[in-house]
Amino acid sequence: MKQPVRVAITGAAGQIGYQLCFRIAAGDMLGPDQPVVLQLLEITPALGALEGVVMELKDAAFPLLADVVATDDANVAFKDADYALLVGAKPRGPGMERADLLAENGKIFGPQGRALNDHASRDVKVLVVGNPANTNALIAQAAAPDLDPRNFTAMTRLDHNRALAQLAEKTGRHHASIKKMIIWGNHSSTQYPDIRFAESEGEGLAAGVDTGWYRDSFIPAVQQRGAAIIKARGASSAASAASSAIDHIRSWALGTPDGDWVSMAVPSTGAYGIEPGIIYSYPCVCEGGNYRIVEGLDVDEFSRERMDATEAELREEREAVASLL
Ligand code: NDP
Repeated sequence: MKQPVRVAITGAAGQIGYQLCFRIAAGDMLGPDQPVVLQLLEITPALGALEGVVMELKDAAFPLLADVVATDDANVAFKDADYALLVGAKPRGPGMERADLLAENGKIFGPQGRALNDHASRDVKVLVVGNPANTNALIAQAAAPDLDPRNFTAMTRLDHNRALAQLAEKTGRHHASIKKMIIWGNHSSTQYPDIRFAESEGEGLAAGVDTGWYRDSFIPAVQQRGAAIIKARGASSAASAASSAIDHIRSWALGTPDGDWVSMAVPSTGAYGIEPGIIYSYPCVCEGGNYRIVEGLDVDEFSRERMDATEAELREEREAVASLL
């Protein structure tokens, strides 16, 4: 059996955290031969609920669960962490402007970045799920000057998976057969789900669907899927968000299949003319625990417009938190 790795989860007693803990302990994220230590962070008022999560984790007797740490101290939660899933975030309150939301979250993600900088493994792989995820990742990264900036990523895999599901339904293909989906940009309603390269069993899918459906139905459906789930379920998506976070880390750690890629929000290198440094979702190939942006794809006029619009939003978000960077 391998040595255990340390997985930190923030907001671990929340909806998404509650799903994540059990899936990770079951081996869904890092494989059936990789023991894990879960290092769970919550705010002090939620420590009681977190204790309940720890009790259930113990009761489930997962063979791969080597230990569980529950704490309200980020320095403890991130100690030697190999993976950090930053889920806990401040939700938007009534009447709150986006700038206020960004500033409030800066107070969470700045200190967490510093704690990662001071205590985590030098190779820690950080995934930010808590919204506004891309800019929260940027804030955490800025507070961690001793870590490689590439270690900080944000989640657009749920959007990627949602896009696969929508295209599968339209084309009658199974979602698992569809490769080369792309989400560009921000995990927000400006994201650009791009099916131009999508294929199933070697066959391109874009030519088979009507452009009107793609532009007027598919793109808004993916962008607004979160709101549709809240309307239907009376609560925000949690199991699918946790599942996609697991997919993101699994791809990054264990690799992407040949001939496919995944969408990850990563520090822009300037690829596709996007402002360097912002955390922008790109198609990425993963291998040997590293990711690289897929470069050289064709960008048509419609795509350019969409890619630039979501980039503009990320630049504005960066402006709004400039004092924290
Ligand atoms: P959830 O577990 O449902 O959501 C957590 C975060 O994930 C939110 O910011 C949410 O954004 C975001 N998110 C990203 N993608 C999705 C998606 N597709 N669907 C739903 N959510 C998504 O929130 P809870 O309120 O249940 O739990 C949050 C926990 O975090 C609480 O237990 C709280 O105590 C804790 N917390 C911990 C902190 C810490 O560890 N320092 C700091 C702050 C909170 P959105 O709001 O936009 O849906």
